[in-house]
Amino acid sequence: MHCPRILLIGTGGTIAGTAPASTQLNHYLAGAIGAGELLQTVPQLQQLAEIEVEQIANVDSADLLFAHWHALVGRIRAAFATDPELAGVVITHGTNTLEETAWLLQLLIDDPRPVVLVGAMRPATALSADGPLNLFQAVQVAVSPEARGHGVLVVMDGQIHGARAVTKVATQGVGAFASPGSGFLGWVDDVGVHLPTASGSRQVRFAGLALPEQWPQVPILYGCVEPDPLLLSACLNAGVVGLVFTGTGAGQLSAGECRVLEAWAGPRPLMLRANRCGSGPVHHHPEDERLGLLPAGSLNPQKARVLLLLASIAGFDRAELGAWISQLDHVS
Ligand code: ASP
Repeated sequence: MHCPRILLIGTGGTIAGTAPASTQLNHYLAGAIGAGELLQTVPQLQQLAEIEVEQIANVDSADLLFAHWHALVGRIRAAFATDPELAGVVITHGTNTLEETAWLLQLLIDDPRPVVLVGAMRPATALSADGPLNLFQAVQVAVSPEARGHGVLVVMDGQIHGARAVTKVATQGVGAFASPGSGFLGWVDDVGVHLPTASGSRQVRFAGLALPEQWPQVPILYGCVEPDPLLLSACLNAGVVGLVFTGTGAGQLSAGECRVLEAWAGPRPLMLRANRCGSGPVHHHPEDERLGLLPAGSLNPQKARVLLLLASIAGFDRAELGAWISQLDHVS
């Protein structure tokens, strides 16, 4: 029988976490066991795929570095370029920043074969750990013809999410992921993988982008009552190349922040207005041109930052970035 081949890349997280007691759900060491060891806890996977394991990192995902992203992208690009028989890639990842890595890969990996990210909300040692089934289902999705052409996917708790909309929405519980606005793409269970047919019209904007060793810094500022304008001034004075505002409501800045932008005579970073509401779009505002801002559309702040990182590396100007964001909801 032909067994599809999968590359499993471990990066750490709770799925690879251990605690001294099986009832210990909050205090544990993330990234304590390797992806190979994790694989051995799911012998059922042998029926599904031949799995090659690689460990790129073994960290809590709050500690991921640009260097890890650089290595991950390079490895996946090389695997797809050199191995036509490879069915897909599965990445084990901490849930805290999983959506950022998923979105990064969505913008960079141009191949119809599935790239699936998976994590767990309970450590591997927990009673009813969710990691083993999540991992099984992630591989199920990665080898399925239904998942081809959908771009980068996230599989958690039997749901299949797209990289652009997926976000972690809860600190506890196995159903901690949602795709606000669009909803999840499909689901996976013992009957199969249920996904609509992909349109095939995905545009991978940064497919050919060469990533540098050194990445720029792109801070995120959080909107609230009377935000300290010093934070914005500090970012501008530091010469950041990009900046994301987590604006209030539909991505609004305070009058104090607008005054800082008005008064700023130096070079303007690429600046995106996202929102802190958790769902809903940020639209163009008449003041955007004057202040040098752009609306982030339906991207949450952390995904807007990923986009700005790549746009800065690619040397985009404000007009190019704005044009690309405005068609984002239709292509990706
Ligand atoms: N602390 C973990 C992380 O690596 C959380 C998790 O994986 O659920 O993101």
